[in-house]
Parts: sequence; C-alpha cells; structure tokens
Amino acid sequence: MRTETDTHFMERCKALAAIAAERGESPVGSVVVLGGEIIGEGIEAGTFRQDVTFHAEVEAVREAVRKHEKDLSAATIYSTHEPCILCSYVIRHHRIGRVVIQTPVVYIGGASSGYPVLTASDIPIWPPPPEVVFLNVPIQPPPHTMYPPILTTAQPRRLLGIRIQTSLAENRAAELWRAFRPRIAEIQNRLGADFFDVKRYGPELANGQFTPATVFEKWAVVEVTDSSHIPPGMEILDLPGGLYAVFVHHGPASAFARTYQYIFGAWLPTSGYLLDERPHFDIMGPTYRPDDPEATEEVWVPVREQ
Ligand SMILES: [Zn+2]
Repeated sequence: MRTETDTHFMERCKALAAIAAERGESPVGSVVVLGGEIIGEGIEAGTFRQDVTFHAEVEAVREAVRKHEKDLSAATIYSTHEPCILCSYVIRHHRIGRVVIQTPVVYIGGASSGYPVLTASDIPIWPPPPEVVFLNVPIQPPPHTMYPPILTTAQPRRLLGIRIQTSLAENRAAELWRAFRPRIAEIQNRLGADFFDVKRYGPELANGQFTPATVFEKWAVVEVTDSSHIPPGMEILDLPGGLYAVFVHHGPASAFARTYQYIFGAWLPTSGYLLDERPHFDIMGPTYRPDDPEATEEVWVPVREQ
C-alpha cells in the first residue's frame, strides 16, 4: 500500500534523477528511508565513474549501510525506476522490507521483467520478498509475472462468427460468447479448435482518446477454411496478417485490466513500436474457461515499428 509520505520521498528521488540527467546519465534517483528519515541517497553515475555498477539504488543502499546496520529490513527504498537485476540483488541481500517505484522497467526490472530477482520467493537463503509498490500504476501488478511479448508476423485468417458494439464499461463479452458458443456446431468448415475474440477499435486507442466509454466492435469467432457455408446471423471476418506483439494473459478474465495496464502502460511506451490500426485479438484454446484462475490466453496486439 502506498502512503502519503511515499510521494514526498519520491519527489527527492526525482530531484536526484534530474542531477543525473544533467550529468548525461540515465535519469535515476533513489533514497533509503528508515524511521521517516533519509539515511542514504543515490544518483545514477555509471558514465561519470566509468563503472556500470554505480546505479542510484546501489549508491543509496551503500550510504545507508555505511551509516547503519547491514540489516535494513525496517527500511524502505524509493527509486524513480524499477530496480534492475543488479540493484534488486543488493536490496534482497540487505533485506530491505519495502520498495517504492515510480516507473516500471520492463526488460530488466526486478519485479515486472522475466527475471524477478526482487520478488522471487524460491531462493532458500533469502527471507520473504519485500513489499513492492508502483506509484504510477493505480492497480496491483498482475498476480502472474507478465513477460515481454514475442514479435511475430501473422498470416491472414478467415474467421466466422457474430459481433456486437460494446465498450469496456458496458463489457458484453460474456453475453456475446453465451450467444455464440451453442451455435459453433452449425459451422461446417471450421479450422482448428481455438476460439478468437477480436476487437476492432477506432482511432481513439492510438491517439490516446480511448476511455472505458469508447464504443468498439467485438467479435466471437472461429477460424474457417473458406466462406462456402455461413449459418444465419453469422458473418465472415477477414483478419489481415502483419506484425503482432503476442502476450500471454495468465489468470481469470476478470484480471485482464492488469494485463492491459502492462501492455499499454508499461511495455508499449518503451518498446520502440506503435499501435497499428489492424484488429486486436485474443486466442483461447478449446478448454478455456474465463473464471479459471490458471487460465491462459494469447493477446495479439497489432504493432508497427516507430
Ligand atoms: Zn540498477
């Protein structure tokens, strides 16, 4: 949980980060706080010191350890950026109990990357992981680790099913699938056993105007070999091929907001890719159940290089 003082100490980190930026370093600043007082400060200095280990968090911990005992389990470390693998190791070694972060770091962050050194609980000699708080993410990070996507070029697909107009606020997904699932047996030329949930968004998503009330088109479809047989009320949807970033959502459908937060809030802005205006789609296997806490589905996001 965040507290009011978290913002106060993060302001100090931002001031330290500004100093780093002025020196031509990555703009990272960090402080260690114990009993309401700053006991260590760090400024990113790898270039200045010609030593890649001079990360802001390491420097803040170094000063705190010099002044205090090595066990900092009652302390909180603040950083403008998610501590990397190196810094996460130092934080875990000194048993710092709480970590407050302004900005996630997707590829080498100790909590949100594929190398969760900060949050791992399976290393026998380490105590339980610290509490990790992201200040710029309003909801908790996903219960399951989100991995960076696989970038892949998809072939076009011919799909068949039904569609509705809806919004995130209205969320008629369950209604759509309840209407479609009993009718799948009517489809004579089905290809494979997967289900596709396709979203055709307007320009709002790419230009930042997308809100929970924005209306978009949502399809419940399966892949077909051709359009020779179309049951009444169903339509063909031709999905174009092209470059997609493919994520795996792990968890029930109700936890999707967190996956979207990761994709659009953390990954996309730093990825070097832009959203493309082709449809978005999710692929679910034949045994998929939306309320299963261990459910997985692929989330295909259309992208193009910047
Ligand atoms: Zn670091």
